[in-house]
Amino acid sequence: MQRRLLTVAALVALAPTFQAAGQVAERVSERAVARPHAVFPVRGRVDWGEADGRFGAARSGHVHEGQDMFARAGTPLVAIRDGRVVEVGDDGGRGNYVAIWSREARRTFVYLHMLRPAPLEPGDAVRMGQRVGRVGCTGSCWGNHLHFEIRSGGGTTGRAHDPLGLLKRLAARRAARR
Ligand SMILES: [Zn+2]
Repeated sequence: MQRRLLTVAALVALAPTFQAAGQVAERVSERAVARPHAVFPVRGRVDWGEADGRFGAARSGHVHEGQDMFARAGTPLVAIRDGRVVEVGDDGGRGNYVAIWSREARRTFVYLHMLRPAPLEPGDAVRMGQRVGRVGCTGSCWGNHLHFEIRSGGGTTGRAHDPLGLLKRLAARRAARR
């Protein structure tokens, strides 16, 4: 907070007139307030699929614990928030996956079926918007898509929450900024 105030003060001091100084200060504070805590995790067009891709949809022997978003293979995936990698792996179900824990949100965000192993290791810090992988169809998968999960706590076994509301809000905000 102190640093932000100093930055505004420095810009104000540099501005040639009082009016310009006021405008600069206003713009800087707007940007500081508007800085989002989260960004949409897919850097490209997505198709939300059918009801089968929804959180809670029936699967053989279990329910679907995430939201599927279909996109072209290779579409970049980015960290939805600042956080820390808690798990990366590759298995027959999840394919290449990465799990990112956000202390602020107290949630872990899990990305499944990625084209290739994540270029990250457990313990790595990631910044919101940082590349974490690409859309693929590894593991138990039909059609290139990101299966995205939100789980309580730090790890991939906490209670799963429906991600759709957050994802739709982030997608709408991204669309509005274009
Ligand atoms: Zn899925």
